[in-house]
Amino acid sequence: MTLHIPFDNTYVSLPNRLFSHQKPTPVRGPKLLAFNHPLAEALGMTETDDAVELANVFSGSSVPDGAEPIAQLYAGHQFGQWNPQLGDGRAVLLGESNGYDIQLKGSGPTPYARRGDGRAWLGPVLREYVVSEAMHALGIPTTRALAAAETGEEIMRDRPLPGAVLTRVASSHIRVGTFQVLAARQDVEGLQSLLDYAIARHYPSTGTPADFLKAVVAKQAELIAHWMSVGFIHGVMNTDNCAISGETIDYGPCAFMDAFHPGQVFSSIDRNGRYAYGNQPQIIAWNMAQLATSLLPLEDNSDAAVEEFTNIINDMPSMLRRIWQEKFAAKLGLSKIIDSDEALITQLLAIMTNQKADFTNSFRYLTDGSVSETGIEAHGDYATWHAQWTARKQDQSTSPEEVMAKSNPYLIPRNHQIELMITQAVAGDYELFHRLNAVLAAPFEASVEATDLTTPPTAEEKVTQTFCGT
Ligand code: AMP
Ligand code: MG
Repeated sequence: MTLHIPFDNTYVSLPNRLFSHQKPTPVRGPKLLAFNHPLAEALGMTETDDAVELANVFSGSSVPDGAEPIAQLYAGHQFGQWNPQLGDGRAVLLGESNGYDIQLKGSGPTPYARRGDGRAWLGPVLREYVVSEAMHALGIPTTRALAAAETGEEIMRDRPLPGAVLTRVASSHIRVGTFQVLAARQDVEGLQSLLDYAIARHYPSTGTPADFLKAVVAKQAELIAHWMSVGFIHGVMNTDNCAISGETIDYGPCAFMDAFHPGQVFSSIDRNGRYAYGNQPQIIAWNMAQLATSLLPLEDNSDAAVEEFTNIINDMPSMLRRIWQEKFAAKLGLSKIIDSDEALITQLLAIMTNQKADFTNSFRYLTDGSVSETGIEAHGDYATWHAQWTARKQDQSTSPEEVMAKSNPYLIPRNHQIELMITQAVAGDYELFHRLNAVLAAPFEASVEATDLTTPPTAEEKVTQTFCGT
């Protein structure tokens, strides 16, 4: 049997200034490292048992039947700085299958590569594979990983490193930056085509730019609140890394927090802490304001539109705050929120900050009733907090234990394990990579075999920064 993907390529029906036809660049030594069989099935693929064919397709060495490979154009604000032209510099969209984009990332230079080599090295490819699949298992909207392949070629970063290609699946790759590039070029016709397309694909119940904006804002508010609730730091929330679908996209210098601190940053290039954990709600509102600005040229009465869009953006922080409260209340077993719950949550987070408590384990220990392991009980205010929390748990109609068990994972992809996994993979050992994928598929289940993966890093193991050598 040969590989069959039921491609239906709709993006190429958009005005051709939105993309460039671009085939992936064949590689010297294609080798398949991982393949996500359940995802392949969900995409309607008929799988081949020919390992060589899979390696060729998912390393970019051969283009599967029915694909119409393109690189997509976009622009974006990177760390607040406007960049008028970005685009897929090292990725190609093969096409869509069952409504999902299938994209190769690291598949060679495109017209948007600027001075880049179009490639990715093994480390970030494996990181994105593990972390994006872990996010999905946590129930958080995200792009998925279909395959990882080695290219058999060395690429230059700060040293020669093995090249690799990730096959990414997304409900689309339309970004805030895709709207921005057309707005900046005053291409109203292109903008309307993109909006119609995005509405049909993602928000078919909306029609006007304002309703579309509202829908995207609601999805992004939900997404960022969800990130916060698992201690996730995206690291590069540029407008080109902000998907209209509301999925998490672009796992660069991202990480899950170990010790809780709202100011935690991971990216070595984020010197001002713009994308720190606690800043993410403000940043998403800023990004949504850029989307709003990009939609303005579509409105005839721009004064009225400015007012309407401004109201939508101004309402976002309180909307996000409400979802944040619900998610954190659920982490404390509270499914019915009252006004004082916000203080209950923030007091606990303050104690955790003060005690440098592990974010994931603290909530899990509270869930399991083994709080003496958190370290937070040593805090003077903890007894008072605990008494209040215990009282609050009494008047819940849904079992607090059940709610907590579903809201507080045992397992997150800890950054030091990811770094160790990458180091071992570069040395040819993929055991930890496969183990992380297997175990992180069930993050809410306590498993004795995975106890070592629940441990925070020791001082030596701690990864303080992730370099953007992607
Ligand atoms: P990212 O930081 O991965 O979101 O990438 C930002 C922009 O830089 C996107 O337009 C990428 O396609 C482009 N880019 C990143 N790395 C490379 C590379 N090695 N070669 C070409 N373009 C790249
Ligand atoms: Mg990007």
